[in-house]
Amino acid sequence: MPLQSFIEVSRDSHFPIQNLPFGIFQPKEGKPRVGVAIGDLIVDLSVLEELGHFRSPEFGERRVFAEDSLNAFLTLGRPASRKAREILQHLLSVDTPTLRNDPKLRARVFHAQKDVVMQLPARIGNYTDFYSSYHHAHNVGTMLRGPENALMPNWKWLPVAYHGRASSVVISGTDVRRPSGQAKPPDASVPVFGPSKSFDYELEMAFLIGPGNSLGKAVPIDRAIDHIFGFVLMNDWSARDIQAWEYQPLGPFLAKNFCTSISPWVVTLEALDPFRKPLPRQDPEPLPYLRGKNDFTFDIHLEGHLQASSMDAPHIITRTNFQNLYWSVAQQLAHHTVNGCNLQPGDLLASGTISGPTEESRGCMLELTWRGANPLKDQLTITGWCEGDGYRIGFGEVSGCVLPAV
Ligand code: MN
Repeated sequence: MPLQSFIEVSRDSHFPIQNLPFGIFQPKEGKPRVGVAIGDLIVDLSVLEELGHFRSPEFGERRVFAEDSLNAFLTLGRPASRKAREILQHLLSVDTPTLRNDPKLRARVFHAQKDVVMQLPARIGNYTDFYSSYHHAHNVGTMLRGPENALMPNWKWLPVAYHGRASSVVISGTDVRRPSGQAKPPDASVPVFGPSKSFDYELEMAFLIGPGNSLGKAVPIDRAIDHIFGFVLMNDWSARDIQAWEYQPLGPFLAKNFCTSISPWVVTLEALDPFRKPLPRQDPEPLPYLRGKNDFTFDIHLEGHLQASSMDAPHIITRTNFQNLYWSVAQQLAHHTVNGCNLQPGDLLASGTISGPTEESRGCMLELTWRGANPLKDQLTITGWCEGDGYRIGFGEVSGCVLPAV
């Protein structure tokens, strides 16, 4: 019998008691604070903290849940996130009367999700975007350079990435404006300026850094997951025509730094534990600093939905899985720090577009239309979940509407 809560949670809800993702919400009255999603409700952790429910060696004297970001909580690391989960699963359990039998306390602790505004879960100091799907890299490389030179010689030796821009990471529901910029059409002799004609999404996931590492001190691969708090869905909005003209030799710049959307609920590593899968064999074998003892990936089903104004209902345009990534999150983190680069609590590290081997698993329009002329319009939503035995560990969604260029 799986663990059950006294809160009613439907079978297809993303937020059963087995999940308990963390986020920042602002109630109708009062300041933003830390909450945990269960069913259609949010548990206000600042109230439970005030009442002393998190008093434990893992938290020490720290108060972390009346904050408008998760950063203070993130610095405490895995012992505190494990402890918080244990305390909350106990308080929300069908067998625990503390909240269940106290209507006054319940009124203070629970908020309906529909009544609050979600905010970014963390103050994101730095954002990095990897390029870790073999199929995405291979498809894009084939379009640009032909099938023989699809992958650059470094791709199977290191997790390729670029430094993105943290200031334009936005929460789900924020409109995104079609950017203007320089592009050089294939038949033109000089570049033109104007609104992007091939605006695109990228279906990705990203993880938030918990405790950071000191400048100059690499994180060994077998310690990498101690620095990972949890995962969100991400849409890396991209302007392909701007990208094609600007990207050499230093990589993406204005084609990607105008907006990146993430989902509000951070699903912890603890919640994802039952959905770990062994990382498939890598060929060639990576260098020793990228070889983990028990490296793993996750079985996470992912979908992209497009709702154009001409459609009655959203249309599924991508079905893929987190397991389509070639490089593991531990490898990404070990590689990111191997030169002594210091990661900090709240940093966001993204997977890159998660494409699979089939046409329906392509994670962006560039691949779906094979450079075709179907620019993205209207609303794009990404959702994802792990299928448990009688429950789902879901990520909610990340959604955004595309506005015309000014
Ligand atoms: Mn990307």
